[in-house]
Amino acid sequence: MTPADTSPVNLLGLTRPELEAFVEDLGSRPFRARQLMSWIYKRGEGRFENMTDLAKQFRAQLAEVAEIRAPEIVAVQHSSDGTRKWLLKADSAQAFEMVFIPEPDRGTLCISSQVGCALDCAFCSTAQQGFNRNLTTAEIVGQVWLAGRELAAAGQASYAGGDRAVTNVVLMGMGEPLANFRNVVPALRILLDDLGFDLSRRRVTLSTSGLVPQIYRLAEEVNVALAVSLHAPDDALRNELVPINRLHPIAELLEACWHYIDEQNGRSVTFEYVMLDGVNDSPEQARALARLLRGHPAKVNLIPFNPFPGTRYRRSSPAAIQRFRDELLQRGLVATIRRTRGDDIDAACGQLAGRVIDRTTVRLRSKRVNVAVQA
Ligand code: SAH
Repeated sequence: MTPADTSPVNLLGLTRPELEAFVEDLGSRPFRARQLMSWIYKRGEGRFENMTDLAKQFRAQLAEVAEIRAPEIVAVQHSSDGTRKWLLKADSAQAFEMVFIPEPDRGTLCISSQVGCALDCAFCSTAQQGFNRNLTTAEIVGQVWLAGRELAAAGQASYAGGDRAVTNVVLMGMGEPLANFRNVVPALRILLDDLGFDLSRRRVTLSTSGLVPQIYRLAEEVNVALAVSLHAPDDALRNELVPINRLHPIAELLEACWHYIDEQNGRSVTFEYVMLDGVNDSPEQARALARLLRGHPAKVNLIPFNPFPGTRYRRSSPAAIQRFRDELLQRGLVATIRRTRGDDIDAACGQLAGRVIDRTTVRLRSKRVNVAVQA
């Protein structure tokens, strides 16, 4: 910290080694960081004064230079299926979203990594909002911390994994996580750290539209499950649906995926495939997809398209989705159909819109993909 910078340090943004260094700078022994983490992440404590096994003087010192601050809640919505969506404050004018999806055997929290998104995927409502900024590590971790507290307060903590409500985290909210690599990787480390949220690497999933160089970097840095938004079996169609494909075509993307699995001794990559009526849902396209993935550590997750105002796409019929899945199964692939949750509160995949002031100009808009990759 420079003398001019007197704003408190948000501890939710520090990995274990960073917190140890911070505590040492304050003149305390590094093991104090463990105690702090235990209060913050195991007990969900947000006030230093309540951390009774820390010396009073240390608590007072912390209160002066540090804080534990999650994003502020702007609004909460409850779906009839138990899904909850929170609108969280990014600044005075902007907001991003987080969604909790309860199931009998787990509780999945879907978090955001950016305010808006710059990638311009044709069928995604976040894309229509444009891009404003990256979330900080503290804002990313703060979502999980906040949800834990909110759900505990609501008495929703009776899922597998003992007494906690959030057993799984997916980076499938607003934003492209790999375009915010610098802040996302430390956040993942805190999610996995046994003194942090202590989630196993199979219970943390990063979903990407396909930023190939960052997939290679991720393989070196941190071990989480990888999901890839494929959505088309050929480059011509994928160029249209997921424009980053023009930079990193399918063959290159798949190479990166197989490398990721090898490098991490992972099980498989999940390929997300949004089902768009008459666009990518024919049996021929299913067979083409099977040819791409067959013999590789791949699973396919078919996502019925979730419509939003102004979209030109429609959801494939249940029969078409079933047929598509059968074609994949017949060719030996593992394929599931994602059950749509929370659509009555616009909390389903691709419906998260938040409130975003687009910082990319009209001229830049067509080049947004490049802006995103440099971010
Ligand atoms: N940017 C990341 C993560 C965010 S979206 C990514 O692209 O993977 C999470 C998933 O929802 C992605 O597979 C995305 O393509 C999909 N999705 C986006 N809009 C959708 C919509 N309207 N209906 C269904 N799925 C959608």
